Amino acid sequence: MSPRRIAVIECPEEIPCNPCETVCPQGAIQVGNPITSRPRLDTRHCIGCGACVAACPGLAIFLVSSDNNGPDEVTFPYEFLPRPEPGESVTAVNRDGESLGPAWVKACWQPQGADGTYLVTITLPVGLATKARGIRRPSHDR
Ligand code: SF4
Ligand code: SF4
Repeated sequence: MSPRRIAVIECPEEIPCNPCETVCPQGAIQVGNPITSRPRLDTRHCIGCGACVAACPGLAIFLVSSDNNGPDEVTFPYEFLPRPEPGESVTAVNRDGESLGPAWVKACWQPQGADGTYLVTITLPVGLATKARGIRRPSHDR
């Protein structure tokens, strides 16, 4: 069985923002009142649909799946062109843009209801799902 894919919210600022809450079809994210509250995720209800990842203007939500049988998977918003192709070899990077080593594009996709934002899912070695938050593409980043 594949490991379960769930959202991870890394939204440290108290800002007036809540599309993550309103877009979630499962009611798994709560911002509530005041709207500057930081979002809280109830992982029991998350189905890993990706709607919140695409809707977040702060690029602050990711999908992560990880177990000890590997490989790990991370999904993040991707706003550049050209978009990566499945099977493409890339370099995973952390939040600071530092290399974490090789990764592979599993899919470039849009969650249901997304307004044009694409998501990229990468696979990478076990243990890196909590760190990888984007990619560099050797053939495009010059
Ligand atoms: S991935 Fe889907 S189900 Fe999970 S919190 Fe985000 S919008 Fe809700
Ligand atoms: S949509 Fe993104 S930036 Fe806005 S509150 Fe939710 S996680 Fe934070």
